[in-house]
Amino acid sequence: TTTPTAEATVRLVDADTTRAFGRALAGVLRAGDLVVLTGDLGAGKTTLTQGIGAGLGVRGQVASPTFIIAREHPPLARPDGSRGPGLVHVDAYRLSSLDEVDALDLDASLDASVTVVEWGEGWVEGLTADRLEVKVRRPRGGVDPTDDEDAAAGERVVTVRAVGDRWAGVTLPGADAVAG
Ligand code: ADP
Ligand code: MG
Repeated sequence: TTTPTAEATVRLVDADTTRAFGRALAGVLRAGDLVVLTGDLGAGKTTLTQGIGAGLGVRGQVASPTFIIAREHPPLARPDGSRGPGLVHVDAYRLSSLDEVDALDLDASLDASVTVVEWGEGWVEGLTADRLEVKVRRPRGGVDPTDDEDAAAGERVVTVRAVGDRWAGVTLPGADAVAG
């Protein structure tokens, strides 16, 4: 059998829309899921993760870590007292060796939480066969990369690709159900 995959492409006109899309994405996520975010610096990966954190309902501010590579956000109690999965947010930009990856003990987080990884391409795929690959890009590029405001503004295009059996029958935000 072939691995079921599905793709959804969505335009995100501003940062709030990107956060809203992250919240929608959280609606299909559960403990054990891995989300791999790719895109240039400033593309909007952390902004999208903020939306995922809001959608899951987790403690703490999702931010770009300065020194910490992985940050755990425990689930908040819902009104009925139940808790969903927490969020483990990994920004591997400063990772310098695969030994540091081992030290993160992501296998453990992967069981209990939703794990979102920025800058994970090339090593994170080895953790699990099932994952959501999310690519964020600026269709028009930075107009003037020396101007921070210019580079930060403008719409993004996000493509979500579901990889693995986990996603069979799951409807991604902005896409039809995965066949299979
Ligand atoms: P990354 O984590 O990919 O390096 P960040 O999410 O930290 O990127 O930064 C993205 C920056 O771009 C933020 O300042 C955000 O407000 C801004 N921005 C502008 N438009 C958008 C958009 N449509 N989606 C996401 N971020 C946007
Ligand atoms: Mg980031």
